[in-house]
Formats: sequence, structure tokens, C-alpha cells
Amino acid sequence: MSRPRIVVVGLGDTGVLTAIALRTHGDVVGITAKPEFVSGQELGLRLARPEAWTRDYRIAYSRFRGLDRVRIVHGSATALDTENRTVRVRLADGSAGDGSAGESSVVEEPYDVLVVATGVTNGFWRHPTLQDSRGVDADILLPHQRLAASRTVAIIGGGAAALSSAAQVAERWPAKTVDVYFPGDRALPHHHHHVWDRVRTRLESLGVGLHPGHRAELPAGNGDGGCASPDGLDDDDDHLTSATVSWTTGQAPTTADVVIWAIGRVTPNTSWLPPEMLDDRGFVRVEPTLRVSGHSNVFAVGDVAATDPLRTSARNRGHLLVARNIRAHLQGRPLRDGLIVFTPPGRGVRVPAPASDVVLQRLITHQVIYGGVRKRDRRARRTQ
Ligand SMILES: Cc1cc2nc3c(=O)[nH]c(=O)nc-3n(C[C@H](O)[C@H](O)[C@H](O)COP(=O)(O)OP(=O)(O)OC[C@H]3O[C@@H](n4cnc5c(N)ncnc54)[C@H](O)[C@@H]3O)c2cc1C
Repeated sequence: MSRPRIVVVGLGDTGVLTAIALRTHGDVVGITAKPEFVSGQELGLRLARPEAWTRDYRIAYSRFRGLDRVRIVHGSATALDTENRTVRVRLADGSAGDGSAGESSVVEEPYDVLVVATGVTNGFWRHPTLQDSRGVDADILLPHQRLAASRTVAIIGGGAAALSSAAQVAERWPAKTVDVYFPGDRALPHHHHHVWDRVRTRLESLGVGLHPGHRAELPAGNGDGGCASPDGLDDDDDHLTSATVSWTTGQAPTTADVVIWAIGRVTPNTSWLPPEMLDDRGFVRVEPTLRVSGHSNVFAVGDVAATDPLRTSARNRGHLLVARNIRAHLQGRPLRDGLIVFTPPGRGVRVPAPASDVVLQRLITHQVIYGGVRKRDRRARRTQ
């Protein structure tokens, strides 16, 4: 019997891991709108220290040993035909002058099994735009340069992305005035209060101003939770503005040189999928096995999959479950439920920065989780 063809759409955090986990079980094809792996993690580090972030979170696909047998297609999935088992892909040729990838042609990629891992759009740092390397460079460097040139920074939001941005910006540029505004009495409302106590202490020690009880008014034209760009920024910058922020909670408006909107509103990257696969917010409806409801050979994993309320399959190693169940599907065995959702324990163990860097990133993430990442080729810096 010929090897099954497994197509993974979206090669971000979960797609890469899923492709690696399945590489020996079929002919795996990865379809990606980005020319290289660009993680959605660690916004704060990316904004404040893009070089450090790039080292660990932007990696050429050719550096992943586990992707050696995977055929990578640089393009955007634009339609799915479940009857004929094909994904339509608009290919990039990388020739556009503005950093967005040029488009040359459309191909149909056939599949026996499909994995949807297209993630979500979340402002300027996560979006499905078809890009070449210069586009990714600009996405990473322009917000950093803008922050570097500012004196005052306001961060709107009380989640992990907002707080990590505040901490990283304040640490990187101690002379800047950094303020965080969030609607409730405390930030991190989904975490145990011990976590917030600890984070608050850290932010206060860095001189970050904390402003509970502030709910921001979203500027007009902000259909998806992003923000209008009165300063003329293009769509990709719509969560980084310099407009005055008004509050629905009655406080006087706030101004800052740069406003980072990290309000946690995300839009699933699912416009290419049939509506019957989606829930009312546009996320992919999955069973506990991560199989898409009503489609025996289609699976979804990562932020795009409507698993639990916080859609945590990416950080809860959903790629392992999806890979195991695809193998079971191909062998005619029953699928298993098994996504374990960890709740915040309320206590943290501090890992010293050097240990975190060397042990967690170099050893555990690169060598164990990704199955080996080659050293960067210094002669080909553009490919990371
Ligand atoms: C090892 C690991 C550790 C983590 N640790 C944490 C943690 O500590 N805390 C935490 O909060 N979260 C953590 N996370 C989760 C993480 O923050 C996000 O949940 C994760 O980035 C989501 O991955 P994703 O693959 O769903 O989306 P993404 O990484 O955004 O990938 C989606 C990709 O699909 C592409 N794409 C979109 N549409 C198309 C299309 N039509 N055609 C082709 N490509 C397309 C996008 O451009 C993007 O490259 C972790 C995740 C992992 C894997």
C-alpha cells in the first residue's frame, strides 16, 4: 500500500511539532504562509529584545532535523474541498517589493489526512499574511524601533502578553514610563491569585504603573477587537498605536507615545474552511480526540481548535494526541481522548535565566521537543 499523504496546514508552534511527530508515518506536506518558523510565543521578549527572541523563536525550517522528510510548501491555503480531498494553495514566489510575498500560482494539494493548524490572528505579532523573510524582518523590527524611540508606553490588557510586554519593556528601557491598564481589580483573572501576586511584585519592582479598573474604549472601525490606526499604520500594526485611549469606566483619557493593545481578542485563521466545520466564533469544532466533527480524516490542533474554553491544545501538547490519533485512524484502530488541560497551580518555581536559556531552550525545546535543531548558518543570516 502506498504511504498516506498527510497535509499539515500552518507550520507555526503546533504545526511544526505535528509534522515532526508524523514524519515517519506518511508523506507529510506542510503548507505555510511564512518562509520560516515564526513562533507566536513571548511577545514581550520579541518587542524588547528581538535578537534574543529571534534566536529561539524564528528558525529556518531547514534547521529542524525532524522536518527533513517533510515537503514544505510556501503558500496560503485558500480553500478546502473535503469531497475530493484537496487543499487549494496560493503559492508565494517571494518577489514582492514590500516584504509581503509575491503570488505566482495556485496549486491543489491532495491529502489522505488533513491537519488544520492555522492558529489565530492577534494584532501585529500574529497574522496569516503570506510573507517573505523581509516581511517577517519588518514585523519584528519596526515595533521594536518604535518602542525604542518612545518615552512613554501604555499597555492595554491584563493577560500574559500584556504583562510580559510591560515587564520586558521596563527591564530593557528603565528610563521609559510604562503603564498597564486592565479592567478588573487584578490582572491575570484566569490564574490563581498567587500568580498575580508574584507578577505584580515583579512589575512594581520594575517601576511599571498598574491601573486596575480601566476598560478601554475600542476605536471605531475595530470590528475584530483590533484598533483603528489613526496614525496611518497599516493593518498589521493595528495593536500598536499612538492615539489617545478613552475609558468606558469613566477615567480621563490617557496618552502615550506608544500604546500596545494586548486585549486578548483573537480571530481564528479559518476563512479557507467550510463554514460547517466552524463554531459560531469561527473556531474549528473538534471532538476530544481532536478529530473535526463529521470528518473522519480531518483533525485540528492549536489555537484554531475549539477544545476547552481557553483553547489550550498547543501548550498542552495536543500535537502528540493528534499524531497518535492519526496513526490510529490510518491503522483502523479506535481513537483516544486525551488532552490534559493543566490549570495554573498558583505557585511558580523560578528558573534562573541562564538555566532557562540553556536547559529549557537549547536542550529541552530544541533537542527534545523539536527533535533536534541545527546550528544557525552564519553565512546565511537572512534564513535564520
Ligand atoms: C512548546 C510550547 C510551549 C508553549 N508554552 C506556552 C506558555 O508557556 N504559555 C502560553 O500562554 N502559551 C504557550 N504555548 C502556546 C502558544 O502561546 C500558542 O498557543 C501557540 O503559539 C499556538 O500555536 P498554533 O500553531 O496554534 O498557532 P501559530 O503558532 O500562530 O501558527 C499558525 C501558523 O499558521 C499560519 N497560517 C495561518 N493561516 C494560514 C493559511 N491559510 N495557510 C497557510 N498557513 C497559514 C500562520 O501564519 C502561522 O504561521 C506554548 C506552545 C508550545 C508549542
